[in-house]
Amino acid sequence: MTYDPTYLLSPHFRKTEFARSKTAEKYGIDNSITEPHIIANLQALCSLVLEPIRTRCGRPVIISSGYRCEALNRAVGGARESQHTFGEAADFYVRGMPMEDLALTISHSDDIPFDQLIYEVRYRKNSTPVRWIHVSHKRHGRNRRECLTVSTACGQRQTVTGIQTPVYGDKGMTHHFRKISEGSHGNSFH
Ligand SMILES: [Zn+2]
Repeated sequence: MTYDPTYLLSPHFRKTEFARSKTAEKYGIDNSITEPHIIANLQALCSLVLEPIRTRCGRPVIISSGYRCEALNRAVGGARESQHTFGEAADFYVRGMPMEDLALTISHSDDIPFDQLIYEVRYRKNSTPVRWIHVSHKRHGRNRRECLTVSTACGQRQTVTGIQTPVYGDKGMTHHFRKISEGSHGNSFH
């Protein structure tokens, strides 16, 4: 299939944004998007989920990981059967906006038909956090509206339900979560 950088999946999202990957480049993996059902899935994700998120933010939604062919998914250590491999999921961030607040806003947006919404925080070795949002949409079947927070530090991955604030522990490995729902003083657990 010819490379077309102008191919739009929805008014503000190009197919190339979902195909590009530094890891694919590094390992010479061909992650181009050619299958019609994958394109249809991405179009649904863009028009029904990512466009409304962009409207909420009023600024560009930057895709950090979109489609992943099987080889790329293995290379990045993605979950088996990850929704990224079906064109049903994207990881993104928005510049100048707290990702936690945005994740919370999306979780309360009944008009955004997401299947899974994951607020993800990964702590680098020097304990600086990298934050992004994973969101998915299924074209067929029920979209579950499942909300999770995943925090990774020192190779340890912790998952909790709901959008919460990961708190990085003193010793690095021990981190817990704080509920951020509606100004409560918060239930934290380890
Ligand atoms: Zn993801």
